[in-house]
Amino acid sequence: MEKYRVRFAPSPTGPLHIGGARSALFNYLLARKSGGEFIVRIEDTDLERSSKESEVNIQESLAWLGLDADESVWDGGNFGPYRQTERLDLYKKYADQLLAEGKAYYCYCSEEEIEAERAAQMEKGDMPMYSGKCMHLTAEQKAAYEAEGRKPVIRLHVPHGDKLVVDDAVRGVVTFESDGVGDFVIVKSDGIPTYNFAVVVDDHLMEISHVIRAEEHLSNTPRQIAVHNALGWDVPKYAHISLILGEDRKKMSKRHGATSVTQYEKLGYLPEAVFNFLALLGWSPGGEEEILTKEEIIERFTLEAVSKSPAVFDMEKLKWLNGHYIRQSSIERLVGLAIPYLQSEGYLKDEVTEADVQWVTLIMQALQEKIHTINDIGEFMHLFVGEDITIEDEEAKEVLADPDVPTVINALKEQLAALPEWNAEDVKKIFKTISKETGLKGKKVFMPIRVALTGQMHGPDLHFIIPVLGPELVAKRLQKTVNM
Ligand code: GLU
Repeated sequence: MEKYRVRFAPSPTGPLHIGGARSALFNYLLARKSGGEFIVRIEDTDLERSSKESEVNIQESLAWLGLDADESVWDGGNFGPYRQTERLDLYKKYADQLLAEGKAYYCYCSEEEIEAERAAQMEKGDMPMYSGKCMHLTAEQKAAYEAEGRKPVIRLHVPHGDKLVVDDAVRGVVTFESDGVGDFVIVKSDGIPTYNFAVVVDDHLMEISHVIRAEEHLSNTPRQIAVHNALGWDVPKYAHISLILGEDRKKMSKRHGATSVTQYEKLGYLPEAVFNFLALLGWSPGGEEEILTKEEIIERFTLEAVSKSPAVFDMEKLKWLNGHYIRQSSIERLVGLAIPYLQSEGYLKDEVTEADVQWVTLIMQALQEKIHTINDIGEFMHLFVGEDITIEDEEAKEVLADPDVPTVINALKEQLAALPEWNAEDVKKIFKTISKETGLKGKKVFMPIRVALTGQMHGPDLHFIIPVLGPELVAKRLQKTVNM
């Protein structure tokens, strides 16, 4: 397989969006699969909207997902610098070359003039496009504009009557007419290059083989091909991957819930679940399988199997995958993830003691099979803390009304009192003894104890709940629920 030398080139204008993460992932997968390189560079030419904070968020989110780059703005590489604002001299060099070759020209038109031209074209029913009137300015005309204090932009002259053909690995061949593109700005009046110019200089100088990015950039591609052509450079191969839609088939936005990678991390998702989930957004491994390891995804991923149709963000599937990976995790890892959550919810202080870790360990043992996200713990915490419990419904009340209940509860108290230490293993054993002593079996033993201690008919295993509660809370709860 040919080597993929690919890049992810986010603009640091906000936290890493889930769609951006998916683009990064697809690039990463092909680099790893082909033994190529995955490059992360930063497109920060929008000086007003770019921020250090966003750049750091992008770095942390990629690291969290495990998308390690071979060359990046943070770790360097042989093709740097990797931040566009540090490459301005390079863009200038190529803009000057195009000017010298007559393939680009200074344009002094003001915004009002451009607007007036556009309005006139629209009125005539023509496609609005720059007329090219500055292309042939004489030295005197230029000098006159300069004397007025006008600062020119640089426009690329796009030859008329050409076809700009995007041979796209996902969308097939898409042909644009150069006449529909017009002479566009490649360097703004402040000397900052536009995206469509800088991206081409970067892709070429960094020897990018494949440009894999969001579908919304397909319409920019003819402009980028025009720049490649003007500079006499080969175009990379393109792949434009489809939009991500919410379940209502509208473009994924804040309305649909969390949109940034960081938000998913904060909501208690695991990176391998998000990795697996993102890979399936538009790609199918073929067959029914949905749970795939990073290695399997790398091995099986191809652009040919990436769908042209929009991908739908199925939150239930993400939860299901996350639940799967939670069950695969070690308790130690889950405890490490649960502690910050429990601190943020006020269940733990900033300072965590050995006893706290024990407590959280028991909670995570109790909940590992029950939760889909780390934050789901919140729904269960009433089982583990507080004296006050409510008996959930009539059925549960009936359980406690059974005449055998006092026998069971007495036996429980006796057995617990005899235990030197309340750990899950030992507590598990006492149920057998209670059964033997009372002559009652299964539900007749478990249900009264469960309802008396938690108020509920269902829940995590009692041998985890009881050690979490400890003697004091068990005593208080039994007092309240069965008056014993
Ligand atoms: N900075 C662009 C973006 O964030 C990248 C476009 C590209 O990959 O060419 O959408």
